Amino acid sequence: MTPTYQSTRGKSPDISFDEALMSGLAPDGGLYLPSSYPQLPGDWKSAKSLIKLASIIFSLYVNQRIQASLFEDALDFPIPIKILSRERYVLELFHGPTLAFKDIGARVMARMMQTAYQDSPQKLTILVATSGDTGSAVADAFSGLDGIEVVVFYPKGLVSQLQETQLITVRPGVRTFAVNGTFDDCQRLVKAAFLEPRLKGMLLTSANSINIGRLLPQALYYLWGALEVERISAGKTQEIVVSVPGGNLGNLTGGVLATRMGLSVRRFIAAHNDNDYFPEFLAGNRCAFDFKNTIPTISNAMDVGAPSNFERIHALSRNSSDEAIWGVSVDDETTLKRISITDSEDDYIVCPHTAVALEAAERYRLCTEDNSPILILGTAHPAKFPTALEKALKRPPPYSERLEELRSLPTNFEELEPTKDALIEMLLQHGGS
Ligand SMILES: *Cc1c(COP(=O)(O)O)cnc(C)c1O
Repeated sequence: MTPTYQSTRGKSPDISFDEALMSGLAPDGGLYLPSSYPQLPGDWKSAKSLIKLASIIFSLYVNQRIQASLFEDALDFPIPIKILSRERYVLELFHGPTLAFKDIGARVMARMMQTAYQDSPQKLTILVATSGDTGSAVADAFSGLDGIEVVVFYPKGLVSQLQETQLITVRPGVRTFAVNGTFDDCQRLVKAAFLEPRLKGMLLTSANSINIGRLLPQALYYLWGALEVERISAGKTQEIVVSVPGGNLGNLTGGVLATRMGLSVRRFIAAHNDNDYFPEFLAGNRCAFDFKNTIPTISNAMDVGAPSNFERIHALSRNSSDEAIWGVSVDDETTLKRISITDSEDDYIVCPHTAVALEAAERYRLCTEDNSPILILGTAHPAKFPTALEKALKRPPPYSERLEELRSLPTNFEELEPTKDALIEMLLQHGGS
């Protein structure tokens, strides 16, 4: 039996995985987590591929019957590991279509949603509000899947040029709207659509980072990374420390879920930029849910003042005393220095997010004198951040063929006023087509 899923606030009925996948947020405002944690089989470490591992986890946790081909299709890119000096390993999670780790969760989730709705006669419409990176990962993940269309809203003029190019690239089944407003306006539009009686006839869902369907696939690469480190160190079984660059804490939640399934991790390092709510909370300097305002930094995908998955991490650690998370915040100047040091010491170029995690790993070793192997999650391709990289390396930034290709693809977007009426009119017109 796969587990039911329960709300972190405990005031909604437990539901199946499929239902949690489709509803995102629980009716009581909480987030869904498994109500129990089936353990990995004793021989999980003999899994020879990521696809095999994925099949094991999902057969334990998901009530859908998922074919291995779903994972083969979703995870059709490599997740290599880069060995650095002093037993540090970077797991490169950024070789998917949008060159960031969010591709992994989004692509698996998209295909699970398609499976859940495959018998529905109606088209499923996914609404996404984005401040930059998430929108293109989600749009790309759903694009071209039968029976699904995606509508993306981004704040016009408030995303970087590269992010905009990624967002407005023409993709089958995707419509992109440049909203004359802010990211908050975009989020408001999505929320309004769900509450609107005139849209009750449409099959609408959202695909943001609070969906459990994105988090479960993220447990996968923690298991895979631990296996890889064990293989590289020739079976010298040692517990690893994992350094996770965090924003909304979805990535870290994936890791904590993996430990609940049976992976042993010595310590998680919660690596944050100047948006330090979570490290401050862990240090006892800040109360639960007493969030901060967002500060812009060079690792901008981690610029989150109020992490949406904090509620999950908090609920998970309330139910267990063995949570071992060590938090640290790294400023921009130190991040740039770490990019440069990693380039000269290890001849390896990292993005600012990964650099925060590398710097945090360094501080962890200094402060705790724990010399366990450290797995660092590499979350984005460095070529996505040319300005920061040029500043850190003092030479032209790294090059990515995929990004260059992207710049030559056709683009298209429509404009939208940030009002409910404009939104509804657009969705109803389009729904009829
Ligand atoms: C989203 C993102 C993060 C932060 O992940 P969370 O799940 O929000 O904590 C880190 N690095 C990159 C490149 C990202 O896109």
